[in-house]
Amino acid sequence: MTASEPPGLETQRRDILSLLRDTELRAGDSWYVVERRWYEQWKEFVETGDQNSSSFPGQIDNTELFEDLDSYHLKERLVENEDFMLVPADAWHKLLVWYGVVDAQPPLERKVVDLPSTLKVEVYPVEIFLCLHSNMENVITAQFSRADNIQSIQRAMCEAFAVTVGSECRLWMKSSDSSCERLRNIHMSVLDACLSSGMTVIMETRNADGTWPSSRPQIMRNSVEEQDSYRGQPGVCGLTNLGNTCFMNSALQCLSNTPPLTEYFLQSSYLEELNFTNPLGMKGEIAEAYADVIKQMWSGRHYSVVPRVFKTKVGHFASQFLGYQQHDSQELLSFLLDGLHEDLNRVKNKEYIELRDADGRPDQEVAEEAWRNHRRRNDSVIVDTFHGLFKSTLVCPECLKISVTFDPFCYLSVPLPVSKERVMEVFYVSLDPYAKPAQHRVVVPKAGKVFDLCSALCEMTSIPPAQMVVADVFNHRFYKIYNADESLSCILDRDDIFVYELSVLEEQQEEQVLLALYLRERSHYRDYGSGSSSYGTTLFGHPLLLNVPRSSCSQEALYTLFLQRLRRYVRPPDPSEELEEEEEEDDEQELYKTQTNGISDDEEQEGAEKAEPFQSDLCCGDSSSNSQSDDTATAKPLLDQNNTQPPPDHGDGETNNKSENPTEPICSADTTDTAKDVNPGTHSTEGAEISSKPPLPSNTTEEEQKEEDKQEEACSPSPKANEQPAKRRACRKRRKSLFTIQAVNSNGTTERGTGEGGSAVSFSSQPYVAIDWDPEMKKRFYNENEAEKYVKHSSMEVPQQQTTVQLQECIELFTTVETLEEENPWYCPVCKKHQLATKKLDLWSLPEVLIIHLKRFSYTKFTREKLDSIVDFPLRDLDFSGCLLRKNLSNGEPPSRYDLIAVSNHYGGLRDGHYTSYACNKDNGQWYYFDDSKVTYAREDQIVTNAAYVLFYHRQDKIRKPTLPAPNTSPTSTTQPANDITSCKDEEAEPSAASYVTMETD
Ligand SMILES: [Zn+2]
Repeated sequence: MTASEPPGLETQRRDILSLLRDTELRAGDSWYVVERRWYEQWKEFVETGDQNSSSFPGQIDNTELFEDLDSYHLKERLVENEDFMLVPADAWHKLLVWYGVVDAQPPLERKVVDLPSTLKVEVYPVEIFLCLHSNMENVITAQFSRADNIQSIQRAMCEAFAVTVGSECRLWMKSSDSSCERLRNIHMSVLDACLSSGMTVIMETRNADGTWPSSRPQIMRNSVEEQDSYRGQPGVCGLTNLGNTCFMNSALQCLSNTPPLTEYFLQSSYLEELNFTNPLGMKGEIAEAYADVIKQMWSGRHYSVVPRVFKTKVGHFASQFLGYQQHDSQELLSFLLDGLHEDLNRVKNKEYIELRDADGRPDQEVAEEAWRNHRRRNDSVIVDTFHGLFKSTLVCPECLKISVTFDPFCYLSVPLPVSKERVMEVFYVSLDPYAKPAQHRVVVPKAGKVFDLCSALCEMTSIPPAQMVVADVFNHRFYKIYNADESLSCILDRDDIFVYELSVLEEQQEEQVLLALYLRERSHYRDYGSGSSSYGTTLFGHPLLLNVPRSSCSQEALYTLFLQRLRRYVRPPDPSEELEEEEEEDDEQELYKTQTNGISDDEEQEGAEKAEPFQSDLCCGDSSSNSQSDDTATAKPLLDQNNTQPPPDHGDGETNNKSENPTEPICSADTTDTAKDVNPGTHSTEGAEISSKPPLPSNTTEEEQKEEDKQEEACSPSPKANEQPAKRRACRKRRKSLFTIQAVNSNGTTERGTGEGGSAVSFSSQPYVAIDWDPEMKKRFYNENEAEKYVKHSSMEVPQQQTTVQLQECIELFTTVETLEEENPWYCPVCKKHQLATKKLDLWSLPEVLIIHLKRFSYTKFTREKLDSIVDFPLRDLDFSGCLLRKNLSNGEPPSRYDLIAVSNHYGGLRDGHYTSYACNKDNGQWYYFDDSKVTYAREDQIVTNAAYVLFYHRQDKIRKPTLPAPNTSPTSTTQPANDITSCKDEEAEPSAASYVTMETD
């Protein structure tokens, strides 16, 4: 309930980081999900900050992880270490005690589950729909762990649907393609049953007459029979998506359309070669599961196959392919080729072979030796089909020692030329208060600095870069304010970047303060429960950055300045409106001016209660009164290092007006009355009757009442306070300004930021202020609709140029000389030390089927991006004769021309993608487009797109002519399903439990 005083920053850092490092995953343990930005800010705070640091992270805030704040449902496809961090329970509880959590967000507790070959924190449990066969309209949603068994689902259903205990039940699972399968083994895990999110589990109970409801003929549709009648083109068969498995389906379709491999399986040659003993293999299980899928796909009997067993096997052997996240079809392909190879390796006992350096021997000799050695340990259909050899040459920069090796490969990963430039979209906020923010598209050097971004904007706005400041806006606050010399690589494409125009001051002497301004709305309750002393506020709208002369940092000057800057969407009240808000005071005329001094009584009390010097500067509460000597003529800066300066001067005569009753006790009924303004629900006239205590607002808890009592004590008459009766009085009368101004930290919270030992926030760190609105005032004077408006600069209309590169360029890049990176040096046997050698790769020999992986996903230290250039690759006659080193064979040039046979496509960005594939059927020569269970005809001119990700080429000397004529497709037929129209309809129909259900016979 209450936050204890956190330990020192170094202790915090050590405690948490060692827990993160040392806590091992143990099945059943709880871990917690923490939003990454909050975590990073905390880390920065404890690593670099002191207690005054503006990097204070505030309460733990997982808002960004939730789909919405009602259901607190986790957003889909969040990525660990990118969107969130996982912390062990001990670390979470410490952080929770030290920092609290905003808005009573529920903790994101997740269990470690024990899955085959891996332990992992199950961030996304499987969410499935449950219903009874007798009432499929009544569907409930439930979550299960992959480690749960089917029995626990049955138990949950019996309970949820009040099924009589002891009833005999059967469970069926229905996937999105409406096919139903019985869950026979109730001891099987959710994972092994391939139950995944979005599926429905249907339960039926045995009728009194001993029959089962689902076996009644009118409900049954015998899918097996129907599929028996289907005689389509073998190989033209969809693959059902088992929940984020399009990456797997895409890779499978490419392999399925690789003729030598598919024929090997269709002819059952694999049966003789299954290697059950290879410790590197999967005991033949991957090969058998794969053979099963291929045989079904090429039977011609299915529109679509459910690769469930295959998926389970893959999941068993490669933990990274388990579960929920979007995966990479190329990674799966690589795993699969390796798994199939080891399962089918004809070498039963791998002998140890010592590798020899070339030592100046001719390439031919060294290459043949390397290939021979490779084949002595690796001999399978995969090696026969996919393995080639490349030559790797390393040169020591010091002694010029040349090291040559020949290494086998199973696919070529070729880089894409990376553009040196980068397109950024940013919002430019002009000084002109009436100008809406403008969205600009600018081209900047990728390796540039923030200054380059400003320069690019300068060309469009004519505002000099020195008058701009760039910030990352996140959750209505500044996540980061950039310096001009910071690298642009810190900015991700998905960040919301705002660039603010700053004013210039004529007199150069005066010091400018860069002020960060947040907007906050007070909530109707005070948030004492969290242990922080902040009253409940919520950030809203767009923050602002503005330059303010140091001398204009008084409450009054800032209020006027802010009103002026926010003019476009904050309507300034006219004096008459102000009056009607006012209570029966005599000096209303002055009130507006006094209000502009800013702070209402609750801050005063807040300040007094906490006695924080910075806050006392902001109001004229007791603590600042203590140090008051005499009024100065100039306005008191709001933000000043020196908190011993006097509080704001309220100006000529006004204060005097209000000091008419200097002996009035500070805590009169009047005071409590104004204090009530804190609670917007209970302000205004009813307070007149109150004598000593305000009535409890309906939502006031006992604790809050206690707190208010405390506050009253805090401002009870004291000699000190009585010394400044005029000030007190003046404060009390100020109320109902549009908003009040409060110093905050970067996080937009008030509870901290002023540090210990009486030091106030200094100008050396970034000052942040918030303007706080009562909800009613906000409703009246803040135009939300207008505030959210922005315009698009003409640069947004210029279409982004699509870059096209030739596949040959990528292959050349693959063979370009490069210098090894610092992290990955080479040990020079002559120098006897690590050297940053130069490295060159060359193609020596190529396989029958060449897989080319286009490295579209670029991960560097700072950036992760997907390159979406079009790679122009040929469908026929890809010729490697120019770049193959191995030449002088006795029978002339080796064959080196290839035709395209399949393409795996990736659409979308880094994280939310969809995979499909194009492939050419080996029997009829027709191209098809495979999109999970859907298969459509494809034209050759559709195949080259910027989605192409993995290319499959077949060497021409091995290609056999199609044995069947190409199907007669009309010119418009590319959208026509090539497998089956009805199965496509099933796919598209919104799957619901009530829709048509197919159940197999029992
Ligand atoms: Zn050397």
